[in-house]
Order: sequence, then C-alpha cells, then structure tokens
Amino acid sequence: MELTICTYCDTVHRRPPVSRGSAARCRTCEASLYHADSDLGAMLAVTITAAIAFVVANAFPLITLTASGRQTAATLWSSIAASYNHELPVVAITLAVTLIVAPLVELLMLLWVLVPLAAGVRPPAFALVMRAMHALRPWRMVPVFLLGLAVAVVKLTGLAATVPGWGMFGVAVMTIAFASLASFDREVLWRRAEELRR
Ligand SMILES: [Zn+2]
Repeated sequence: MELTICTYCDTVHRRPPVSRGSAARCRTCEASLYHADSDLGAMLAVTITAAIAFVVANAFPLITLTASGRQTAATLWSSIAASYNHELPVVAITLAVTLIVAPLVELLMLLWVLVPLAAGVRPPAFALVMRAMHALRPWRMVPVFLLGLAVAVVKLTGLAATVPGWGMFGVAVMTIAFASLASFDREVLWRRAEELRR
C-alpha cells in the first residue's frame, strides 16, 4: 500500500489516483498533495528551455563595453579567465562552478531522468541520479550570481558605455527556468519510475 503525507498538516493518506491535469488534495487542510503526471511534460519543457538558455549564456557576450572608441565584448568565459589572470582564482572557480559546472551537471541529470520517463522507459541508475541531484542542491546559486553580475554591470556603466548582450538574456532566462524547476515536486518522478518498474 502506498502512503503520502501532507507536508502542511502531517495527515497520512493512502495515495488516491489523480486524473490528468488535476491535483490530489489533503482531506484535512485541502493543501495540494501532488499533481498528475502532466507535470512531467511541463518539467521537461522547462528543462529544455533552461538548456537552450544555458547555451546562449555561454555562447554570446554578456555585455559589450565601449571605452574611448574601443569595443570589448565580455563573455562568461572571458570574465572567468580575466578573474583568474588577475589573481582571483577563488572568484574564477566560484563563477565557473555556480554558472557553468553546476547548471550543466543538473541539466544533464534532469534530461537523463526526464527524457526516458516521458517516453515511458525507466532511466538507468534512476535512484542514483535522483540522489546526486538532491546532493547538488547547495550549488544551485545562479540567482545569487546574477545579482553580483547586475552590480558589476551598474559599476561598469559609470566607466564605459555598456550594452547588455544576448549572453545576459540567456543568464536571465536560465535563472527563471531554474527557479521554476526548483518549485516542481520531484516526487512525481519517483512515482513515474515506480509505475514503470511494474
Ligand atoms: Zn493537510
């Protein structure tokens, strides 16, 4: 028998089946317990959006600076290289991990579980990948980095004419997509994987 616990009032329920597009509600406090599998498709769509935004953030300049007639485009990679060359290895490593490595690893793991689940196949090493994703949560710091980036741009605007590039747009979309992904109930993935085992 499968049980589910309301996160708001701790009432234990036997898992009621949910029809597509609706949510199961707590019998005591009416809080939403979980949504139907349609969440899986939405989650996959947001993950793909985040992946495209990630590529844009990495491939295009974040800002273009014009100072005394000279134009410089700063990309994510050149910013990291510049921090490293200016003897700021800690800043360089933090930028690389929070904005490139952690999102890339999380996106790959999300796609690893979501694509097969959406296609009706249980992903290989499913539990392991789910646990790894949970362990990596502290590295989800894209919004924090974005704030730092905004401050840097404002400071630079005083020194040179700056124009935000497509890379900045990519970072912004990525931030929104990751925030949205964090709000999805990962329990849905466990449920789907469990159904596919049978
Ligand atoms: Zn409740």
